[in-house]
Amino acid sequence: MNIVSGRLWYSRAAVNANSCDVAVIGGGPAGASTAIYLRQHGYRTVVLEKLRFPRFHIGESLLPANHRLFDELGIHDEVKARGYPTKFGAEFVSQCGDHVRKFYFREALLPVGSTAYQVLRSDFDHIVLNRARAVGTDVREQATVTAVTPKDDGFEVAVEPKEDDPYLLHASILVDASGQDTFLSSRLHLKEVDEDHRRFAVFSHFRGIDRGTGEDAGNIRIIPFGQGHWFWVIPLRDNLTSVGAVVTKEVLREHRDDIEGYFEAAIEATRALTRTMSKAERVEPVRTIADFSYESSQYAGERFLIVGDAAAFIDPVFSAGVLMAMSSAKDAAKAIHTAFQTNNFSARALRSYEREHRRKLRIMSRLIRAYYRPAFLEMFMNPVDMFGLKAAVSTILAGSDERAFRLRWRWELFFFIGWLRGYLRSNRTMSTVCSHGCSVHPPLSPPLRGGSATQ
Ligand SMILES: Cc1cc2nc3c(=O)[nH]c(=O)nc-3n(C[C@H](O)[C@H](O)[C@H](O)COP(=O)(O)OP(=O)(O)OC[C@H]3O[C@@H](n4cnc5c(N)ncnc54)[C@H](O)[C@@H]3O)c2cc1C
Repeated sequence: MNIVSGRLWYSRAAVNANSCDVAVIGGGPAGASTAIYLRQHGYRTVVLEKLRFPRFHIGESLLPANHRLFDELGIHDEVKARGYPTKFGAEFVSQCGDHVRKFYFREALLPVGSTAYQVLRSDFDHIVLNRARAVGTDVREQATVTAVTPKDDGFEVAVEPKEDDPYLLHASILVDASGQDTFLSSRLHLKEVDEDHRRFAVFSHFRGIDRGTGEDAGNIRIIPFGQGHWFWVIPLRDNLTSVGAVVTKEVLREHRDDIEGYFEAAIEATRALTRTMSKAERVEPVRTIADFSYESSQYAGERFLIVGDAAAFIDPVFSAGVLMAMSSAKDAAKAIHTAFQTNNFSARALRSYEREHRRKLRIMSRLIRAYYRPAFLEMFMNPVDMFGLKAAVSTILAGSDERAFRLRWRWELFFFIGWLRGYLRSNRTMSTVCSHGCSVHPPLSPPLRGGSATQ
């Protein structure tokens, strides 16, 4: 045994090339973190990742609650050393740019942490995967899992390496961390798409956006527009800024032939963006991701668990994806350890993981669903600052999953007020005028081309 970062790690046990305790599909934050947590108990773990890292990934804004997990995973020093911008909070900005509401993590009701990082995911995900390797995980990149077959004593995993012959790997337990590929839930027909929140994202990286100065320069900005659409603006290292729009599937259908044109027109129609983008230059292609939100009806079954985005993806508005991925990894590793200790790999035994992960996801998904209702959106734009309600919202925005009573009653009151406001004002879909209620705004679903979208 040897000791790394003050923790007890088992020395690298030789993993038979064709057999292991746990096979993990996918080397993103969920898969790599599962492997690191499992290595803390000494399990022979193989991570199978279809790409070679570093690889591009969207999802750059992290939360303060990530930090505790970074410590446990032994990656915090390296993350700190990368010089990522520090995020002190989240800003909700009206489309005109005149109205800004800020939620600072330091104002949270419970001490979750006052800062978070805005990371380049290619770089960040590589840190986590390298850490998994460093603690003794057998990480196999450019190795695609093409099929899995349940056996009495585990799973037979079919692997296709990019530059080698296909082979079979036997694992006592299988973890699906394949992200939005949803390897298991798609094949087992467990995947349920949320038709009410079927969205897609269009995004890119820009250089030269004016991000302001001082601590607010590191904040994420969320700019609601149109009917349930919003922009994110995330400051990254090296003067890069990530800008993306999350819109409904109708927009995708309408602009399918020219998504890039749509993205440019939507930016042009948003003064909160054009004000800061006069010198901006796009430095990455315009990319899209379609068809979220979804979840698997089961997160665990006989000898398998599903973690991270492979289990559920709700919506990125509050930047909780990486946190949920890593925390599901921790809970899954705990359930796997218990399964090995008790020699009980049944679905029932592994469901302890599912219960805990669903509880955490529910906290965030409730807030996300509320965000898409006008009465609640108005509460984000004009927070009710009594009874510590804003502090309670800031606590959840920081990523807390605490059950403390002083948080819970405020939380329920927040939802009650939102519901009451909606009831009294009839809960329309999100306003088509500026989220602040101004009437001076350009059309919010910009036409594909033409001058009417510009100001
Ligand atoms: C538009 C958008 C914006 C987002 N913004 C944020 C944000 O600001 N903050 C945040 O925290 N989260 C954000 N997220 C969510 C975040 O990106 C994800 O929650 C996070 O990446 C989940 O990690 P994961 O490990 O589960 O999946 P991934 O990071 O996607 O990793 C899955 C890995 O599995 C591999 N894989 C897939 N299939 C196979 C196979 N058959 N064989 C081998 N390997 C395979 C893939 O190559 C990939 O590397 C956003 C998501 C979207 C869509």
